[in-house]
Amino acid sequence: MELRQDFVNQLPGAYSLVEPEGLDNPRWLMWSQDAAHMLNLAEPDANALAVFSGNARMQDASYYAQVYAGHQFGGYSPRLGDGRAMILGEAKDIHGEFWDIALKGAGKTPYSRHGDGKAVLRSAVREFLASEALYHLGIPTTRALAVVGSDTPVWRETQETGAITVRLARSHIRFGHFEYITHGEQDRGRLRELVNFTIAHHFPHLEANASGYKAWFAEVVRLTAEMIAHWQASGFAHGVMNTDNMSILGDTFDFGPFSFLDTYQEGFICNHSDPHGRYAFDQQPGIGLWNLQRLAQALVPLIPSDDLMAGLNGYQQALVDKYLQLMRNRLGIVAADEGTDLALVGGLMKLMQNNHLDYTNSMRAFAGFEPGAMEFALRDECRDTAEFDDWFSAYRDRVNGVADAGDWQRQRAAANPKYILRNYLAQQAIEAAEAGDNQPLETLYQLLRNPFDEQADMTQYARRPPDWGEGLICSCSS
Ligand code: AMP
Ligand code: MG
Repeated sequence: MELRQDFVNQLPGAYSLVEPEGLDNPRWLMWSQDAAHMLNLAEPDANALAVFSGNARMQDASYYAQVYAGHQFGGYSPRLGDGRAMILGEAKDIHGEFWDIALKGAGKTPYSRHGDGKAVLRSAVREFLASEALYHLGIPTTRALAVVGSDTPVWRETQETGAITVRLARSHIRFGHFEYITHGEQDRGRLRELVNFTIAHHFPHLEANASGYKAWFAEVVRLTAEMIAHWQASGFAHGVMNTDNMSILGDTFDFGPFSFLDTYQEGFICNHSDPHGRYAFDQQPGIGLWNLQRLAQALVPLIPSDDLMAGLNGYQQALVDKYLQLMRNRLGIVAADEGTDLALVGGLMKLMQNNHLDYTNSMRAFAGFEPGAMEFALRDECRDTAEFDDWFSAYRDRVNGVADAGDWQRQRAAANPKYILRNYLAQQAIEAAEAGDNQPLETLYQLLRNPFDEQADMTQYARRPPDWGEGLICSCSS
């Protein structure tokens, strides 16, 4: 693997050079064959294990930690930075695109503050499973190549073991990078350098655009809105939407206490450290805009306010358009009706909420519906059948006249996953791995590579959680 080092070479001052701290007795816990294929890497070998466990250095690579700031739970932290992640450089994939290779959990950096720079097995595995699961669902996301486990003791509430996630990101530039320069360094030249770097590397189609910065910000707004539309349509709660966890490319970034919904609850809070629900599921669209406003503020020295306002004004429409596009596809509505579609989707969500339905399984039920039929299995799940019948008669009218019902059903199966990364499944697999058995993890990962397929003998993974796993949530501790 050859690495380019554009960030290091072109943005001096935006990072610190660092050295990794190796894990004791490292071993592979997970390996993404899809990510490896994309990077044209061979099967995991001893060399790769030495590098990805931080025990050997890649020659000629300048390992670095980036500096950034961020609004965390609404308050501004002027200096964060990669406290437990380091980037090795940028690797070219088989399509000619570049990916930052990062080790998350490879020891302290100048930005570790009081932290130990380490990651524990459960958080490393959760990041791996989530990024690969989101990728296979078609949600924009950073990727994961591997997880390396170890015997290194790491203290959290109790003693755990250290692990490293090898993260792949098209860019690690966050909203917080721009905030750091504008509010901290107050150096307009450096802000311009960072924006130009971002455009040249990730928005090259805008380089020759006369209204380049304005068009760029509008595109960042649109990509962010579309990412959040994907989350809402998939029932995904991120959990820590601080501006330092918002990618400038609109990729889902920094997986902590995230959770997919089991039972549909619009106000679901997946983060134990968020008692007031700032980042509750139904708050995500609003928080996305709030975060973009913080980014706009950071860009004021460079981009006229009117241009920034114009960009922000496009947010809501972009989000609703994408959300409706995704939900129409899930419901099999071919011809859009701008006037009523949002209400139709909202009615279904209300049904799910009132009847405590499972989000994923309810949506998957559409793959078994026959357009035109008077019966729909979802009715049996509802306590309030009158409410269901109201909704259903409006829905039936929207999917009448389908020529090929079998084809329609296949398309619904391709839009509504059967298998998602349910928190209790992740938890079971993690507990097994902590006890030395990696098989459940591997099984779960393989399952989530094909989330839309009926997979023989796997239906138990599509079940709602048992009592102990319902509403299972995590804290930020990782
Ligand atoms: P996060 O909540 O994971 O997005 O992290 C917020 C900030 O805390 C980032 O700057 C991280 O680098 C830093 N951080 C989180 N965990 C640790 C740790 N164990 N050691 C050092 N820094 C950490
Ligand atoms: Mg973070």
